Amino acid sequence: MPAKQLIFLGPPGSGKGTQAGRLAERFGMVQLSSGDALRRERRESSEIGRKAAQYMDAGTLVPDEVITGVMLAAIDKLPAGTGFILDGFPRTAPQAEALETGLRQRGLELDAVIDFKLDDGEIVRRIVERRVCQGCQATYNVSFLPPKVDGKCDKCGGELIQRPDDREEVVVTRLETYRAQTAPLIEYYSRQGLLSTVDSSAGADAVQAEVTRLIKSAGRN
Ligand code: AMP
Repeated sequence: MPAKQLIFLGPPGSGKGTQAGRLAERFGMVQLSSGDALRRERRESSEIGRKAAQYMDAGTLVPDEVITGVMLAAIDKLPAGTGFILDGFPRTAPQAEALETGLRQRGLELDAVIDFKLDDGEIVRRIVERRVCQGCQATYNVSFLPPKVDGKCDKCGGELIQRPDDREEVVVTRLETYRAQTAPLIEYYSRQGLLSTVDSSAGADAVQAEVTRLIKSAGRN
């Protein structure tokens, strides 16, 4: 499969990060997660990290120009010709427009946008049960995707924690933010003929099979 440029869209907890990780590994692409990039900036106490912290803790979005700068810089670090999956970016119309311009300036274009659909009750359940590896950021779910050893990452042995913004009271704000600012991008990419929708309520393996089918047939083959 030639290198592809993809966006995984969907509410928090819809499984897009898990699938981006799996698909990137399977097809030799790079997963570019905006949330992971910002958490990295915070761990490093960079100026960007300090700017982003208050928004992330409240479950709202960091300013468009901050995250757009971070993500275009991440794209610029990739070796030429590398396929990538944007996971969690763009999340607003101005971000989508800035991405389009940025890709065009770099001679790149999007092949597909996959929207992960899941109902709110299931989203909240999945997020509060989510655990993240402090070492490699791999994600687990205590009910349906548990680690082999309680509290330890299967991949690197790191400690699994609950993200502070995965507590139920913050999740409600994150869902409202998604609906108000990110959901309009479904229509935006649909108009461009790039959008496919995946039912995320199936198990991770079934969703992976469906996403694989979609991206194989997307864009340049
Ligand atoms: P995530 O890990 O994707 O759920 O992102 C965690 C938090 O990082 C979000 O709740 C936002 O505060 C921030 N964030 C991640 N991606 C973006 C983005 N594209 N635009 C603005 N804020 C973002």
